Amino acid sequence: MRVSALPAQAPAITGSTTAKRRGRKSNKTPTIHKCIITGCSSEFDRKYTLQQHIFTHLPKSQRPFACTHEGCSKRFNRWADKMRHERVHTGESSFQCKFCETSFSRPDARLNHYRRVHRE
Ligand SMILES: [Zn+2]
Ligand SMILES: [Zn+2]
Ligand SMILES: [Zn+2]
Repeated sequence: MRVSALPAQAPAITGSTTAKRRGRKSNKTPTIHKCIITGCSSEFDRKYTLQQHIFTHLPKSQRPFACTHEGCSKRFNRWADKMRHERVHTGESSFQCKFCETSFSRPDARLNHYRRVHRE
């Protein structure tokens, strides 16, 4: 005697999930913060994001966050970037990429990064 292992037919999944569609413009117009730099047409919905963006126009010497390590003149637009960089000096992650500002705690991780990101 055969026992059919097949379960009863599963109910067909119809389009019962009513996902709310986004993308339509809401009545509230969000405040747009435009970049004040001539020739730049970037727009941001948050003032903070705009401020972060404006830093990218600044020459490196005017970036707001400087590395506190003696003898290092690197400066950064974002505090988090500075903190990440400073770990290079403390030895916490002392394998810094020679192409960008990413640093790694292990040399093989950096090697992986070279291959993945910089195609070295
Ligand atoms: Zn801009
Ligand atoms: Zn530094
Ligand atoms: Zn890199």
